[in-house]
Amino acid sequence: MRAAEIQDDLSEILVTEEQIREKLDELAARVAADYAGKDLLLVGVLKGAFVVMADFARALPMHAPIDFMAVSSYGASTKSSGVVQIRKDLDTDLHGKHVLIVEDIIDSGLTLSWLLENFESRGAESIEVLALLRKPEAAKVHIDCKYVGFDIPTEFVVGYGLDYAERYRNLRDVAVLAPHVYS
Ligand code: 5GP
Ligand code: MG
Ligand code: MG
Repeated sequence: MRAAEIQDDLSEILVTEEQIREKLDELAARVAADYAGKDLLLVGVLKGAFVVMADFARALPMHAPIDFMAVSSYGASTKSSGVVQIRKDLDTDLHGKHVLIVEDIIDSGLTLSWLLENFESRGAESIEVLALLRKPEAAKVHIDCKYVGFDIPTEFVVGYGLDYAERYRNLRDVAVLAPHVYS
């Protein structure tokens, strides 16, 4: 597919690469201050969070081991099923760790509420959430997210790690997917 054809699949750029970079620098400074002297572990939720993890971790001026967990809650659809499947578990023992979950987006909140409960049962010392994007009007459960990048409208977005049927993850910006692509 050529670049122009990919552009035709997007109806609007919602957050640019530059805006994301600035926001992650800001969040990284806050996290570094909040976790000074603590044993911080970053946990990325695959696949969507691989890009935000790469950029956020490099913006963070402190030691922070990185682990990933792969869960799936959507399949190839654009609606949350609420059914969470572990595809890859953590390699790290969470006992005594200060865990910061790094997420691409909070939509219904169902995936994260499941993950938070799961991590609590593994004995983490503390658990907080960083999400690049959040759709406040789509929330089905309340998630206490300490570090939020951008609140966005309830639309299906792609890019910067976020996919539709495994496409568009490699776009640099976050964009609204044009309805003609999935309808
Ligand atoms: P939630 O459980 O909060 O509804 O969302 C779970 C996962 O669904 C997110 O981590 C993300 O992978 C995916 N998701 C939610 N909203 C969107 C969206 O607008 N675009 C894309 N590409 N994925 C989304
Ligand atoms: Mg995600
Ligand atoms: Mg997806």
